[in-house]
Amino acid sequence: MMEPLLKVENLKKYFPVRGLLRTIGYVKAVDDVSFTINRGETFGLVGESGCGKTTTGRTILRLVEPTSGKIIFNGKDVTKIRGEEMKEFRRRAQIMFQDPYSSLNPRQTVFEVIMEPVRFHGIPVDDPEEFVIKLLESVGLNEMHLYRYPHEFSGGQRQRIALARLLALKPEFIVLDEPTSALDVSVQANILNMLKDLQKKYGFTYLFISHDLGVVKYMSHRMGVMYLGKLVEVGPAEKIFENPLHPYTQMLLSAIPVPDPDLARELKAKRMNVEGEPPSPINPPQGCHFHPRCPFAKAGLCDKKEPPLIEVEKDHYVACWLYAKS
Ligand code: SF4
Repeated sequence: MMEPLLKVENLKKYFPVRGLLRTIGYVKAVDDVSFTINRGETFGLVGESGCGKTTTGRTILRLVEPTSGKIIFNGKDVTKIRGEEMKEFRRRAQIMFQDPYSSLNPRQTVFEVIMEPVRFHGIPVDDPEEFVIKLLESVGLNEMHLYRYPHEFSGGQRQRIALARLLALKPEFIVLDEPTSALDVSVQANILNMLKDLQKKYGFTYLFISHDLGVVKYMSHRMGVMYLGKLVEVGPAEKIFENPLHPYTQMLLSAIPVPDPDLARELKAKRMNVEGEPPSPINPPQGCHFHPRCPFAKAGLCDKKEPPLIEVEKDHYVACWLYAKS
């Protein structure tokens, strides 16, 4: 079997919480997370806000430095690379942000926005204007847009410009960090379909981060569910949506709004009602972090010991004592 493009092993990112004179604790934003992404695959990462999904994406790209763990990209450990190796990694592994406006320089025209990273990476281009026009056309824009400024575009068009800039660098791996959550629903669908088409055309590998389960289901081949810095369920997206095993995943799926009122009534009886907010990641509960909100928590076990992530059925992993031996 082909090696995965990305292997994340026991990745941790702790942010220190500073008191008056010393560090008084750590926010464990990413806490011992391991997963792989195959070439040409979309791996969805989902969870409530503050669960660590965005920090995971940024740590993988080394936009924030990991506390410990390994990031293996294309068979090479990139956790500590520097200089030219780092520059090359930056070209091959890109990120698309939620808010394209803040990631586009308002003083640059579209042409400059796209050409700047191309020049930085020393990518040879014969005819820069033609090069940028082709990129714009591949994301549904055209040469009329070449010398306009970011403020002249809608949110969806700005995401297209951001995407054209990524394409210019010919990356292999793209972290899509809530790329459509700031857009209208109709525009969202266009961007998501375009991302899928580009993946088919160029063989991109995506890490798709979102709090929107419907979108994750549409985009992902496999997915991971995060809770308080930990992965609690990993597996093929279809399997997880058909048969969610972890109580937290069941809770998330129960919270998806159903547009059909009859179906909503039918489902209501089966839906899982979990109360409360996620606890603070500075001082997470002992044992299974989900136990204060879990209707199945076993006293003396779930509040004491952390469940390991184990394979419950083929390629479907869950961290819950309901499926593991204590
Ligand atoms: Fe609930 Fe216990 Fe499973 Fe955690 S380990 S999800 S508390 S049953």
